[in-house]
Amino acid sequence: MEKRPFAELGLSPEILKAVDKLGYEEASPIQTAVIPEALKGRDVVGLSATGSGKTAAFAIPAIESVKASVHKVQCLILCPTRELAVQVAEETGKLLLFKKGVHVVPIYGGQSYDRQFRALESGVQIVIGTPGRVMDHMERGTLKFDALRLVVLDEADRMLDMGFRDDIEKILTAVPEGRQLLFFSATMPRAIQDLISRYSRDPAWIQIEAHAQNAPQVDQVYFEVDRRYKLEVLTRIIDLNDFRYGLIFCSTKVMVDELDEQLHSRGYATDRLHGDLSQMQRNRVMEKFRKRSFEFLVATDVAARGLDVDDLEVVFNFDLPNDAEDYTHRIGRTGRAGKSGRAYTFVSGREIYKLQSMVRFARLKIRRESVPSLDQVDEARASQFMDRLRGVLDSGQFEKHDRMIDRLLDQGYASTDISSALIQMLKGGAPSKPVLPAAASAPRPAAAAEPEPDPEDAADEPQTGAPQPVRTGKEAGMTTVFFNTGRKHLVTTAEIVGKITGVTRLPASVVGAIDIHQRHALVDVASEHADLVIKKLTGIRVRGHALKLSPATAAERAAE
Ligand code: ADP
Ligand code: MG
Repeated sequence: MEKRPFAELGLSPEILKAVDKLGYEEASPIQTAVIPEALKGRDVVGLSATGSGKTAAFAIPAIESVKASVHKVQCLILCPTRELAVQVAEETGKLLLFKKGVHVVPIYGGQSYDRQFRALESGVQIVIGTPGRVMDHMERGTLKFDALRLVVLDEADRMLDMGFRDDIEKILTAVPEGRQLLFFSATMPRAIQDLISRYSRDPAWIQIEAHAQNAPQVDQVYFEVDRRYKLEVLTRIIDLNDFRYGLIFCSTKVMVDELDEQLHSRGYATDRLHGDLSQMQRNRVMEKFRKRSFEFLVATDVAARGLDVDDLEVVFNFDLPNDAEDYTHRIGRTGRAGKSGRAYTFVSGREIYKLQSMVRFARLKIRRESVPSLDQVDEARASQFMDRLRGVLDSGQFEKHDRMIDRLLDQGYASTDISSALIQMLKGGAPSKPVLPAAASAPRPAAAAEPEPDPEDAADEPQTGAPQPVRTGKEAGMTTVFFNTGRKHLVTTAEIVGKITGVTRLPASVVGAIDIHQRHALVDVASEHADLVIKKLTGIRVRGHALKLSPATAAERAAE
């Protein structure tokens, strides 16, 4: 699937400038193949999947073929719907930004004829319209074809499905001999082949297979989530799938900062990218991300644009993108190189309408799923845990504790109970995750026991939103210390106590409650020894993982 720089396609400097401004780095395969043929004046039949860049493949040759000095319609582009006509007109408008004196107008049903008359009279060179309305103007004599040189049929298959065949044939019959014809379609039914053989002369057939390259295999899912529970749902999905390399998009810099901090305090290795960072800082973050020095990058659209990673496991739209184009850009970071990727989009409240219009407009293949329940997450964690346990057992890489176990057996405990108790301890004892009410997935059922929150102060609430279990175990005189290690690293309470006492030579009694989370642990240490523990244990490796300790912030304690 060949792709070439636009500069190699024989384009004018004005178009190259526009393409650059649009941020297109290179021509897509359909563009690479179609543009040079079309520039030669040849008829073209272009077949490729949705999202492969067909618009620019015909809009660029259309613009190049137009004479700015001639104030007559020279190019006609037919589209099946009003939305598409507007969309194509917009993209064409962006591409001809630097072409002085070239103008484009969309004409479609439902818009006032007056405006369209005026536009057509003003001498536009490129008309983009639906077949019905174009026919109308043709018959009224307000759209003249005497200078027409290029006709494009975009989404030809859809136009036929919509019953435009007669209109299209009338239009094609009315255009002058010798015009160039470009056909674009995602499929090639019999009826289209008929049209092509009747109206086209020796066209170049260009078919781009929907290979992984240009149609990334991205499994796209959206969740309807109350804004306050997005963080909880995000971490559930990460844990459920055991994701380790992904991009999380937020709409604002403030959200990026906030989410980065919240994830960090929950033990995820994250960093952030947004426009307030200096170029040097940005480069450093990107470099680290490429090297996978951390797991999740939280970013805004603009900041992520310069990021050249494309082998991500997952992309999260923590906030909904502005439009289908941004959406496509975002999710295109995953599912490359033949691997399948995942994209999760969170929508809250009225955003569902925005998503629906994007789906309709860009024909996104995205399906709704309900938020995974805590049980599902636990089940997945348990199976990940079992896999790791089996791995350790199979490798034989563990110390024997036969005497201790024998003693327990002698005391009458069953081996299954001993193992279960150990697993329970590994999991950190009592449930420590925030409890997400069943209402996490919007809409909230009335059954939720808490009072309806006042929307005014919703913004100030912690993102987890859910009722927080209060930490009651903390005794006076204890300081909570944050450990960057958790269940994921198979760390145990015994191991934490062992490390603290072993390294500091302090008695085990200085250690209080220990809460082991997925990727971090919160350990209560007698306040007068907290500094010493932090200093001595930082940098020590546990199971190959370098420890980093710090006094837990209020946010970290609250995030429990
Ligand atoms: P199609 O008509 O084949 O479904 P579009 O022309 O609508 O596809 O393009 C899909 C998306 O890809 C649009 O958002 C468009 O702006 C973008 N796009 C098109 N060409 C390129 C390119 N060369 N590089 C990057 N993005 C592109
Ligand atoms: Mg298209």
